[in-house]
Amino acid sequence: MHSLHGSYTTETNFYGGNDVFDLIEQYGSPLYIYNENILRTRCREMKHLVSYENFVPHYSIKANTNIHLLKIVHEEGLHADVMSPGEIYLALESGFSPEELFFIPNNVVAEDMLYAIDRNIMTSVDSLDQLELYGQLNPGGKVAIRFNPGVGAGHHEKVVTGGKKTKFGVNPEYIPEVKRLLETYNLTLAGINQHIGSLFMDGAPYIESLGSILSIAKQFDDLEFIDLGGGFGIPYHKQDGEARLNIKALGEALDPVLSSFAKEYGKNVQFQIEPGRYIPCESCALVGTVTATKTNADHDYVGCDIGFNVLQRPIMYDSHHDIEIYSRELKEAPLGPLTVVGNICESGDILAKDRMLPLTTVRGDLIALMDAGAYGYSMASCYNQRFRPAEILIGLDGKVRQIRKRDTLEDLIRNML
Ligand SMILES: *Cc1c(COP(=O)(O)O)cnc(C)c1O
Repeated sequence: MHSLHGSYTTETNFYGGNDVFDLIEQYGSPLYIYNENILRTRCREMKHLVSYENFVPHYSIKANTNIHLLKIVHEEGLHADVMSPGEIYLALESGFSPEELFFIPNNVVAEDMLYAIDRNIMTSVDSLDQLELYGQLNPGGKVAIRFNPGVGAGHHEKVVTGGKKTKFGVNPEYIPEVKRLLETYNLTLAGINQHIGSLFMDGAPYIESLGSILSIAKQFDDLEFIDLGGGFGIPYHKQDGEARLNIKALGEALDPVLSSFAKEYGKNVQFQIEPGRYIPCESCALVGTVTATKTNADHDYVGCDIGFNVLQRPIMYDSHHDIEIYSRELKEAPLGPLTVVGNICESGDILAKDRMLPLTTVRGDLIALMDAGAYGYSMASCYNQRFRPAEILIGLDGKVRQIRKRDTLEDLIRNML
């Protein structure tokens, strides 16, 4: 196999010495391919972000829920944030204990809260109304509250979750009402959390948001933990030389803030963070097959079998994924603007517009979308009754393990009565 375009997977020995054409032949196209080494490296970076001792990164498992990957994340010592009973179930199945889970739902029914309460899983509520519901369901219990610190950040309007224009969190001006509800239901506020948005590449807004969450924290006496939120960005534009988020600088900026808070508060409270995408994102390449090329009204198209049912991010968030192209033969690869599209019957089914890619790309070549490990498979669907792909994991020794089967025709009809 020859890479006509892109060098990330070669540089990282991403496929562990396996020929991708063989993998596609064996497991089907398209295929989610994960690299264990990269996954573990990202876990360790988060685990050692700060030197403050009582610090635990919580992986936000909505980004990727494959239990084989979750087991690795758990092995690396991370805890997990869960958003629904389904995610609680998967996390427990992967070996996380209830104490290692933090349930952060929003706008949920009583049954969802009871699912967590029955399993002794710490829960964070997102409004006064849900705090009241929690109090009715678990009087005398411990609870956490998600506050909205009034600043937001993120790569797209749909993922900014702090600040004045979002549905999330309790506005700090309601703290007196919060206290009243805690008293009414004899609840202990054990933790507070925030999440200002997703994919920041500059740590400044994250550090800035600490001021308000910590000043909220000082208004409560019994906190065991403070959760600073996630949103740690990854460089989706590696082919353009985009720099990584400077984890070392972020850690160094965080450390003194955490220890001086602990000192003032008189207790080494646990600090948590909630990285979702940062953990699995770069450990995955989504590989598909080029199925057709054509020219329509002066536009050159490359068609492939990766529709937006398989990877939603481009159509949903206009997001960019670097692309690599592989060919069986070594050939010249002059670049030109190509629009890469999938096989779904909608004109929005576009993976990349006018991307500079090899003009010699032809049917039968392989196309790899980089950084597909977060919000990739977990958002995939069977739209157009196309199968969700298989997932495989390249181990530290280069050995391949299948960690999910591809859908089958029976799966399409399974729940129909
Ligand atoms: C989604 C989410 C995260 C993780 O966001 P990323 O962009 O994947 O880091 C963290 N916390 C909460 C509450 C979330 O909803």
